[in-house]
Amino acid sequence: MEQSTQPFTQAIEQSSLPLLSNSDQPLPPIASSSTLAADPSQTAAPPVPAAPETSQAESQPAVVLSGFAAAQSLAAAKPNPVPYIEPPPYVAPALTSTAATGPSTGVAALSHPKQFLTNEEREKMTPDQLRETSKSRGVPVAELLSEDEVQKFDTATLRRMGLGRTPSGYCFSSRMTLHKQLDSASKDDPHPEQPTRITGIFNRLSLAGLTDRMERIAVREVVRDEVMLVHSEGHWDRVRATGYQTVDYLASCSEYFDRLSLYVNPETSRCARLSCGGVIEMCRAVAEGQIRNGFAIVRPPGHHAEPEDAMGFCFFNNVAVAAKWLRTIYDGQQEGASGQKVKKMDKILILDWDVHHGNGTQKAFWDDPNVLYISIHRHGDGFYPGGNYGAAEMVGEGAGVGFSVNVPFTETGMGDADYIYAFQQVIMPIAYEFAPDIVLVSAGYDAAEGDKLGQFKVSPEGFAHMTHMLSVLANGKLVLALEGGYNVDSIVKSAHACVEVLVGDEPRHLQLGPASASATTAVQEVIKIQAKHWKCMGFAMEPAEELKSAGKVVPVAEMLKAHRVYELYHEYELFNVEISKPELEEAYKDQLLCSPNIYDAETLLIFMHDIGSIKSSHTAATMDVDLERTLLLDTSREVLDWAMKDNKWGVIDVNFLAHLPSIKGQVPDRARDVKLEKEFATFIWDHIARLSSAQNIVLFASGAGCSAMMEIVSKRPDTRERVRACISVLGLEAPPELDAASGMRSWYKERSLVMLPSTHVLHDDARKAGKHQKKYGNVYRATAEDEGRPIHLLRASLPRIRQFVDERLPAPRMMEVDESAAGPAPPKGDGDVEMKSGDIVV
Ligand SMILES: [Zn+2]
Repeated sequence: MEQSTQPFTQAIEQSSLPLLSNSDQPLPPIASSSTLAADPSQTAAPPVPAAPETSQAESQPAVVLSGFAAAQSLAAAKPNPVPYIEPPPYVAPALTSTAATGPSTGVAALSHPKQFLTNEEREKMTPDQLRETSKSRGVPVAELLSEDEVQKFDTATLRRMGLGRTPSGYCFSSRMTLHKQLDSASKDDPHPEQPTRITGIFNRLSLAGLTDRMERIAVREVVRDEVMLVHSEGHWDRVRATGYQTVDYLASCSEYFDRLSLYVNPETSRCARLSCGGVIEMCRAVAEGQIRNGFAIVRPPGHHAEPEDAMGFCFFNNVAVAAKWLRTIYDGQQEGASGQKVKKMDKILILDWDVHHGNGTQKAFWDDPNVLYISIHRHGDGFYPGGNYGAAEMVGEGAGVGFSVNVPFTETGMGDADYIYAFQQVIMPIAYEFAPDIVLVSAGYDAAEGDKLGQFKVSPEGFAHMTHMLSVLANGKLVLALEGGYNVDSIVKSAHACVEVLVGDEPRHLQLGPASASATTAVQEVIKIQAKHWKCMGFAMEPAEELKSAGKVVPVAEMLKAHRVYELYHEYELFNVEISKPELEEAYKDQLLCSPNIYDAETLLIFMHDIGSIKSSHTAATMDVDLERTLLLDTSREVLDWAMKDNKWGVIDVNFLAHLPSIKGQVPDRARDVKLEKEFATFIWDHIARLSSAQNIVLFASGAGCSAMMEIVSKRPDTRERVRACISVLGLEAPPELDAASGMRSWYKERSLVMLPSTHVLHDDARKAGKHQKKYGNVYRATAEDEGRPIHLLRASLPRIRQFVDERLPAPRMMEVDESAAGPAPPKGDGDVEMKSGDIVV
């Protein structure tokens, strides 16, 4: 990601204009908001004399100040000359207008507490006097005013009186549209980061009447010292220098800018300053209570800009600069919009839902425990910005460990259910535990449906619900700042839905299906990684070394193997077979079981399968397995019943425990496991199946056994002679492919049945069915009975499998069940096989 900054430097050196000293920018003192954040509403309110002490009021006969005269007398600090008026006793408002007195049947007539003030008195009062009166009487201002009277005041005045909601705000300036491609470049290949992105959003919000309901916050240019909270001085100078170059010169640098995924025109520098300054102003307005939340309609975006580098359409990191600014500027002493103290911004949450990882933002706060950076993005396969910065393992460094949280999705097509799942499982729990003082959102909309760059499909409703969830944090202090998003229609709709939530409209209806397998896997991985840093993520399992010091460690896999050996011997008389090859014996000890009739049964089943599925529940506090609710779902029994109880076939039962060597402390290595599984499969063929006199052999594989079965078919051509059927039952993974060079494809197509769940991706494109048959064999879509869950697939497909096998076995012999074949039989063949204390060795 390191790139030469030569042309920027050249730009400064070759500039015929003197490089402006940054001192021409009046810099605000960083420690005070007063110069940067002059708010007219702060000075508009006249000083209000303090209300009388309650204790004083209590010690005297009950005197209630009334109306304008009361306020006047207070201001003059004279004893109260107003005659005492007895307030009427409280009577609950009548539900029908018949109880109302006077001619009015409206609400005002029913709201008796307003009778504290006469109409005349109310009309004469200033807003500040009204507020004081409400304080001194312990009655809300709203109770002193009728609906009509409320309408007379503007929002700021209402807020000063403690009425009305703090509105939402937005910032926008059409000056930010001046950053655009040079004419020469835009004709051939229009750049996706186009000016209409912000005009589109602004126009939509205006047409929908939303901007009328929001306060417009003025955009200003960021100044050098603010930018330098994140970026270097050199970076500031380089960006600024582009503003003094001619179009021709910038055009000559376009190749360099292209490499950084940038384009630059003479207005770029100013637009970058406005964009960054706009986000700061939104943050200021929210922090100071001028607005509750807001949306910054700004460009160019910022989250890729690193301290030293502009890149990925970004020049200054708007959100990062604003976050550092908030951290720096408020010391808890400044006054906010309604005279209250502005909270010190100790903890800031930056949530980045742009489809790209915000490498620049993460870098700016990599070792900072005060700014929590959470990014949910597409990752891998060289997706921008590339590298490994967006991986789940990237959690920060030093004091900042755990304060970078990455939720990387590795597949395209992620949608609402996937995002909401990540929010519910990871983002919101961590955000609550962090308890931020303000939330900034790097609100890119390139994960939106219709964005060709992102290839995700989050709907406007999805974005609205995410906004809604975030709006409960930090007392509602929330700033959304536009980042990416390149389908103008999509970003306009998405921004609209988010702003509806910001102004307080109810979030739109959203109905979710389950999150995808890929997203749930990604999110669960994040939970495992972040469990070390966040209590809400549960406990991470201690390393095996630590556990060993506390007692004997027994892998559950070993217990399961022992259980299977015991159970299958007692129920089916399957014998545990010792394997003569040491490395296979080490890996598959107790996992090869055979029926006594394997050498002389008419039909032999080689059944290669997983251990089954363990369904477990955990004790939340310790992550211990809750044994009472932990079950092994062993689907192999149905197959064994069919083969042995219904048909008296010989059975070779091979149990492939996935990642077996990893339980011995090695790093899981699926490629190594698969290699061993294949070797084991051919070993079984060579040392048992070939020696059997069975005329019919059925290969049956599920899960991990499928690639092993394919190895037998591809590498042992003598399977053609006796193998009648090859059954595979798979989950959502791709089925193993038969090697074209084996010359077995047409043979395999006739005899194979590849059962895939009804939701398997191979079913999606019916036009490719022929192609799939060649590669994978006879692919069959399971019925909806499996409900898309591979775990139920074997049981759901067994009737179809049985029919398929029956059709391929020689019919007459199917009926000849020779009872005498049952029971242990002396092994045939050479010295490879011998009986040993009840066990067979192969
Ligand atoms: Zn993006």
